Amino acid sequence: MTTHAPNNYTCPICLGVQGAENDQTLILQQDILYKDDAVMVFIASFFIQGSEGHLIVVPTAHYENMYELPDAVGARIFQTAKAYAIQMKQAYNCDGVNVLQNNEPAAGQHAFHYHMHLFPRYESDDLWTHMGNKRLASAKERLEFVQKFAK
Ligand SMILES: [Zn+2]
Repeated sequence: MTTHAPNNYTCPICLGVQGAENDQTLILQQDILYKDDAVMVFIASFFIQGSEGHLIVVPTAHYENMYELPDAVGARIFQTAKAYAIQMKQAYNCDGVNVLQNNEPAAGQHAFHYHMHLFPRYESDDLWTHMGNKRLASAKERLEFVQKFAK
């Protein structure tokens, strides 16, 4: 199946799933909102202007892209994404939610472990204009969004 991960690829998402915090992954354990035997949800390390604190949903097992994702795992991801989209509506008081999932570099995939983005949307946030304008968020900034989900 199609793969773009280089040989000896150290997967930053697998490291986060395994609980690692080091210079090979941007995921901090504090960023993780949910994890079970198949799925994990965390606050994205990169913030997009106007849509800060977006969520990433991943399988806990390594699959590079949608093409190789087992249907049963895909179903779990969808169920989890739906639940978190609904929670995000309340937690962020956003006006809508976008789902984005990129397969292969031509489609904008940078991390070679399947991941689905959930972007909070606000009236007039102009997200698509700002999509290329991302910055690494600090641990403190991410924690502020984690805490919006803490009930
Ligand atoms: Zn991985």
